Amino acid sequence: MDFAQFKEEAVGFLHDSAHNYIAVQDALRDDLIGMQIFDEPLFGVASADDPLFAGLLNPEAVHPDYWLPHQWLAEAKSVISCFLPFTSQIKKANAMDMSAPADEWLHGRIEGQEMVSAFGTYLRDKLIEAGYDTVLPSTDPRFKMLEPYKSNWSERHTAYICGLGTFGMSKGLITAKGIAGRFCSVITTAELPITKRSYSGLYDYCTRCGKCAKNCPVGAIDSSCDINIAKKHEPCDKFVYTTNGLKPNQPNHKKYFGCGKCQVNVPCENGIPKGAKMAEG
Ligand code: SF4
Ligand code: SF4
Repeated sequence: MDFAQFKEEAVGFLHDSAHNYIAVQDALRDDLIGMQIFDEPLFGVASADDPLFAGLLNPEAVHPDYWLPHQWLAEAKSVISCFLPFTSQIKKANAMDMSAPADEWLHGRIEGQEMVSAFGTYLRDKLIEAGYDTVLPSTDPRFKMLEPYKSNWSERHTAYICGLGTFGMSKGLITAKGIAGRFCSVITTAELPITKRSYSGLYDYCTRCGKCAKNCPVGAIDSSCDINIAKKHEPCDKFVYTTNGLKPNQPNHKKYFGCGKCQVNVPCENGIPKGAKMAEG
């Protein structure tokens, strides 16, 4: 298949999708009606046979019961991962007050996730239409949690394997378009051009500057620890949960939650930070 054209059409879908703009019935403030959520996405592709997938069975990586691409789709040939970066409006708003999530950021989390699901569904359906069996793990009924914080498909680990970037101290994935955004992925029988990884280590793009740790309102990131264990999920989740609730004047009565202070006003907010380790050649 013509992958360049496929990507171009997917970008067009994102641009034209009503899900990528805040609807009147969802807007937390009148001035946010029509706000764009995501900028142009990044695409990365890995072979379904990439040995790094099997590496995720290591309990230190993800979990022994993690599902490999062929368990989702027996004839799988490729895995496509996409990063949808938040617009600068969302990131700038969230950097204004470091104690509570901005309304813009909350929209990015909640309505943004609806857009991500619509985007993943679009990718899957387009590939099926083109004659390739395709699975979208995040909405597949077989998707499950294996234990707290670990599921049988991980978007960030998939993005790493697909060449989109490396982990940061905050456990977000640092891409060429920064760390603030959302991921989705599909597994397909289409044989697609593989994206070259410009890194070899899990944390190559993180400079260990510690700015994300300084930004965290609850000290959930400890930059004095080994980078593998610097981020503690429990205090982060607990804080994010305190922001979980109905917003006054929210016409759709949705619950909103979020934080993301470790993803704004940091050197990796909009791209790979200066001083990051890049693979040669
Ligand atoms: S802010 Fe600094 S330490 Fe934190 S993830 Fe980004 S580059 Fe790494
Ligand atoms: S999302 Fe918020 S609470 Fe969680 S690690 Fe980042 S800054 Fe801290």
